[in-house]
Parts: sequence; structure tokens; C-alpha cells
Amino acid sequence: MMLCCTAQAQVTDNYPADYAGDRIRFHALFIWDPNAESAHVEFDQQALHFFHKLSYGEGFTYDVRTECPNRLDSLQRYDVVVMLNALPQAADQRRAFEQYMEQGGGWIGFHATGYNDKDTHWPWFNEFLGCGIFLCNNWPPQPALVEVDTQQHPITRTLPKEFVVPASEFYQFSPSPRANKDVEVLVSISPKNYPFGIKDIVLFGDFPIVWTNKNYRMVYLNMGHGDEGFIDATQNLLFTNAFRWVSLEATESIKATKANGK
Ligand code: ZN
Repeated sequence: MMLCCTAQAQVTDNYPADYAGDRIRFHALFIWDPNAESAHVEFDQQALHFFHKLSYGEGFTYDVRTECPNRLDSLQRYDVVVMLNALPQAADQRRAFEQYMEQGGGWIGFHATGYNDKDTHWPWFNEFLGCGIFLCNNWPPQPALVEVDTQQHPITRTLPKEFVVPASEFYQFSPSPRANKDVEVLVSISPKNYPFGIKDIVLFGDFPIVWTNKNYRMVYLNMGHGDEGFIDATQNLLFTNAFRWVSLEATESIKATKANGK
């Protein structure tokens, strides 16, 4: 019998798997901008392929849009919204997204989704993202040694303490998300990379690239520039863990955090 396909097994306390069978576990929405800069479009298209493969067997269903919904009920159909280099720009889109997240929505943002500066004019987003404005970046895109800040979190517990991530452009923010008591930093660019870059060189500074704001069911991942985002198994595992945690586990973990008064 092909257990992997027929999924007839009963889930019991001593059975080591929970086969979904015909049960769709959750619904996801992916948002990307086909008119973004070409290196972001490259990443986004590869990301859509990557997450499509995670949907094999319909453990989850998903939709893809090129515009952020401007109505709360359009977002509330989804357990998780993944923004691939696309941040809501219009006032009604921003308002709908704020309401969705404040009411327990799930979010994963990649790379330019977190980009904001003095012209963004969206204070709620900085409170949500948990850091300040864009400060600087390395250029050109290049691989980097990263450090896992905690291996206690479900997103990072299967990752090595240090590993090399594929080439990308990485943003430093000011103030750093690490200065925010509500933020748990998960992965950072190692200071061993400094001086980091060839044309544009980052010389120093606190450099988190993956974190969660514990007040929300969210993860931000700064990777997302160019066509190498999915060539590395360790980084792919990080992305899968992040997607899985936000979609399936984060609600319980946030409840536990709040119950403990943290
Ligand atoms: Zn970029």
C-alpha cells in the first residue's frame, strides 16, 4: 500500500504522522508586482514556483495577485498573505492590511516589501515591521555568512548556527529591529562579512535579516533579490519553516507568549 498517496492511516497518539488526506490545512495569498525591478521579478517568479511545489497534494490552496486587496473581507479568506517584493501603496489597501493583521492575520514579507523611507508615510508599518527606515545595503548582490540568533524558535531550530546564504542585496534598517523589545531576531548578517560589498560597501552595524514581531503572526525575510534565492537547501529550509510556522503554528505560540506576559 502506498501510504504516502492513499493517506488512509488513522491518526492516533502513537502514529507518527498526520496525513491531511482530503483536508486542506490552510489558504494562502501571494502578492507580487510584475512591474518591479527585474531582479525582484526574477525572485518573485521563482518564489511562486517554490511555494507551488509546497502545495503539492493540496495541503494548502493558494491564489496569486498582482495588487494588494483593498478590502478586509478579501484578505480574511486567507490564513497567510505572502508579499513578494510588494508593499501596499494605496490608502485603502494599507487600511485593509492593517485591519487584517490587527485581527490575527498571517504575513510573510520578503526583501523590498520591508523597504521604507521618509517618503513611505506609513507609521503603522514601522510599528508592525518592528524597525525604522532603510539605512544602507551592500552592492552588488553577493553571498553572505549569516548567524542564527536563536535555535529555540521553530523557524530556526533545524538550521546550523552559521551558514552561507546565496547572493542577494541585503538591507540594514535604522533603528535596528533588535532595539525593539517586541521583536525576536532569528538570523543576522555576520559581522565577519565586513567590509561587505564591492561597489557599495557596508562597513559596520547591527544587521538582522530575519525576524518576527511577537505582537503579530508575521515573519520578515530580507532575502529576495535576483535569481539565486532558491538554490540553497538551507535557505530553502528556512523559507519552508517560516511559511509553515506562520501558517500552522504561530497563533498558538503568540497566545502562549501573551499568556506568559512576555
Ligand atoms: Zn533588491
